[in-house]
Amino acid sequence: MDRLQDLKTNLDAIADRMTHATVSAGRAQDSVQLLAVSKTKPASDIAGLHQLGLSQFGENYVQEAVDKIEAMRHLPITWHYIGHIQSNKTQIIAQHFDWVHTLDRAKIASRLNESRTGSPLNVLIQVNVDHAPTKSGVLPEDLDELVAHVIQCSQLRLRGLMSIPDPENADALRRAHQDLKALFDGLRDSGRVASDFDTLSMGMTNDLELAIANGSTMVRIGTALFGARTPKDSA
Ligand SMILES: *Cc1c(COP(=O)(O)O)cnc(C)c1O
Repeated sequence: MDRLQDLKTNLDAIADRMTHATVSAGRAQDSVQLLAVSKTKPASDIAGLHQLGLSQFGENYVQEAVDKIEAMRHLPITWHYIGHIQSNKTQIIAQHFDWVHTLDRAKIASRLNESRTGSPLNVLIQVNVDHAPTKSGVLPEDLDELVAHVIQCSQLRLRGLMSIPDPENADALRRAHQDLKALFDGLRDSGRVASDFDTLSMGMTNDLELAIANGSTMVRIGTALFGARTPKDSA
């Protein structure tokens, strides 16, 4: 089988899993978007999935991503930055991406805001819902203060929340998803955020069903679409 056929087989399987999970949860079929996580994968794979109908791609490594973004300028792709943000990379991120999922501190928000020209950058705040000690993400108790800062930034558009839970077991994972959903609903109902605060980025290859059952509106899928990443460059 050629590569495009492999990608189509993978995409069909993911679409089936998403449809099944969405219907089982009693949610509208179009209420969950698929973000293809293309880190470490070649531009030709992105072109292939674009040909198969995908237009949202997520990348973790800035220089690798910028090379692909430049190479694919001719395609109408929406690029999402989903990696850890180092402060010396904020300018290049603000200039090349349409979305950032991993905003977790005020200093980074200010830097992205200062560097962004043209249309505002769509941002999600990453929350460390399970209080993992070594992980990125704002702690739930510090979320309100960061929201207050981000909504003052005129070149940022706060679109929602994101998490990368790292649970010890299925119960902890479910709790992490439910906790993020509760924070998301709380902010939406508070009147503090705009009506386009509509995105809950939650769920990856292994937990997309659980994430959709708990209200995810965007799943980030790498392995199930592209196949395993080689150990040397996976993160
Ligand atoms: C790599 C990555 C994914 C995709 O994970 P898979 O398990 O391969 O689907 C999703 N989100 C983030 C933040 C990632 O770094």
